[in-house]
Amino acid sequence: MLTSYKLEPPALNFGEDGVPRSSAFDDVYFDKDAGLDETRYVFLEHNLLSERFSSLSPHQRFTIAETGFGTGLNFLCAWQLFLEQSPNDSWLHFVSVEKYPLSKDKLEQSLAMWPSLKQLAQPLVAKYPVLCHGLHTLFFPEQRTTLTLWFGEASEGFKALNGQVDAWFLDGFAPSKNPDMWSDELFQNIQRLSIEGSTFATFTAAGIVRRGLKSHGFDVQKVKGFGHKREMMIGSFIPTESESSHEAPWFVVKQQKTINKVLVVGSGIAGATTAHALAEKGIPVEVWEQGNNIACGGSGNAQGMLYPKLSVSDTPLNRFYLTAYLYANRFYNAIGDQTAAWQQCGLLQLPKNENEQTKFSKMLASQLYPDSIIRAHDQGLELPLSGWLKPQSVCEHLLSHKNIQLSLSTQLLDLAPCEAGWQATSQHSTETYSHVVLCTANEQAPLKTWQEWPTKPIRGQVTQLAICDLTSKDQETIKKVSQVLCAEGYLSPALEGQINFGATYDLGDNRLDVLEQSHQDNLVKLQHLLPIDSEAINLANCKGRVAMRCTVADYTPIVGPFSAQKALVDRYAPLRQNAKWLSNETGELLTGLYINVGHGSRGLVSAPLCGFYISSLILNEITPLEQTVIETLHPNRFTIRQLKRGEV
Ligand code: SAM
Repeated sequence: MLTSYKLEPPALNFGEDGVPRSSAFDDVYFDKDAGLDETRYVFLEHNLLSERFSSLSPHQRFTIAETGFGTGLNFLCAWQLFLEQSPNDSWLHFVSVEKYPLSKDKLEQSLAMWPSLKQLAQPLVAKYPVLCHGLHTLFFPEQRTTLTLWFGEASEGFKALNGQVDAWFLDGFAPSKNPDMWSDELFQNIQRLSIEGSTFATFTAAGIVRRGLKSHGFDVQKVKGFGHKREMMIGSFIPTESESSHEAPWFVVKQQKTINKVLVVGSGIAGATTAHALAEKGIPVEVWEQGNNIACGGSGNAQGMLYPKLSVSDTPLNRFYLTAYLYANRFYNAIGDQTAAWQQCGLLQLPKNENEQTKFSKMLASQLYPDSIIRAHDQGLELPLSGWLKPQSVCEHLLSHKNIQLSLSTQLLDLAPCEAGWQATSQHSTETYSHVVLCTANEQAPLKTWQEWPTKPIRGQVTQLAICDLTSKDQETIKKVSQVLCAEGYLSPALEGQINFGATYDLGDNRLDVLEQSHQDNLVKLQHLLPIDSEAINLANCKGRVAMRCTVADYTPIVGPFSAQKALVDRYAPLRQNAKWLSNETGELLTGLYINVGHGSRGLVSAPLCGFYISSLILNEITPLEQTVIETLHPNRFTIRQLKRGEV
């Protein structure tokens, strides 16, 4: 567990020649005169990237992993070559780890030295994440590339990932000056992520690196170094036959299956982001929506907010919400300009009571979060990356993608496995799909016979009121609200002459009609946020909307590959006797079927990353979630827990 997500800044200075230099490691990030040539010689040529990129087949993916992202120069050079050499439908996935990331300004300043890379440096700088420990996935669909950045210790980052790396860029400061990075754990994870034919290239010929690679399955050769440097090393991975056992095979998510046709069921924020992530990666997707309009459940409110659930300690669930929150902020910023559906106006979290005030003080004192994420405000906590959005407009924008075919009034009635994948039946037809993703919130009828997922619907009514229906004093008060306000309830800044506030939290209440009592409850919450004269508000002027949240008892969405409960119980039955039992059987039990549900009140935060995660599972890519987070969200978690307790 970490005590802080803050990162140590690099000890970086720019010399008179403009070259970034680390005073901590007494080394340069790149050479001024020959930086580009050196990168191309050492990493691109010696991993044979030009030939390998040009021989990719359509839709094939190529993964490069690097130690030490630094200024991103190696990434930009590889990216540029990929775009020049690869066929149009192929994709690049670049993974890099960095313990001391540059600030955005310094990154921009460093890259300004390379005018030939400007076209790619700009989108990189624009999407560069806030400096916070953990995984950050940057998606560049127009340039057919995903960049996964791990901010933290190199070996820890590779340990958190799973997937297959085709080529390694073993960069870093000279091993003599930075021996700690080249740990046995780093080499173990390089081995774990390598496949037959994975290559590596490194600028160094140091013994610590040669021995580490040799003892972890690589053949290693010394070749002429760049320029005046005598030697560097290259090689490739030769796998050995070894029994692989996984600590928790029931949480392995990898499955390789040819993609034919993909069906996403549900068009709320979970369905829309899942379909969109696939569509952006060039996969045609069909979306079935049982309603006669999109986003007619929880995502249909006029205004929603980006309000993460962040805790005072570093748990896998907290890492999930933090990673998802930062991803969602980048995601909405990327589509915001086209849709006018997102305002990053910030959010003020006001304490509900004294206990919460103490919790806030504890959170700030713990220094867990960088100030760019959570900072002190005289009334509570301020989250500057938050804001409000129009969820339905966002879903509409996402689903209008050219690779998405949307069918409204189409309800999934039956789903059955077949040779080619899945036969899905609606009231209109039966179709076959290689992959199906259910984003149907509480609606789980077709899957009930395999495994029920333990979600609970919780009624939420929001209230909408025209500003002109408030007293003039209250109108002035409302006009001053420039950030989302949250305590027991929430209020967003006015939109199109209306304020939206709420919401009720009515457990066990399934009434879908708008209730006056719920408006009253919302007005009480509003009064805790602002000095409004709620007596002066005529309830007849309040409009409302009711939706059922899809909640899970552990406040954790259920996202990942789906298995039939009986098959799980049969395969992992020994867990009943021995909760520590290990199995080598890792294959999924129902391949090509996924669920993405249970986002509760936080779907606008969690859905974009979960949608991207599902798309990466289907495409067998490096995932945007750490393995511990994958396990926390995994649909199998309930049955495995029950097995260990002998309850099934
Ligand atoms: N590849 C970079 C580029 O294209 O600009 C240059 C890399 S620079 C020579 C080495 C990088 O390794 C630095 O950014 C440094 O902060 C990073 N680094 C050093 N020790 C590390 C560690 N233990 N874990 C992760 N990154 C580390």
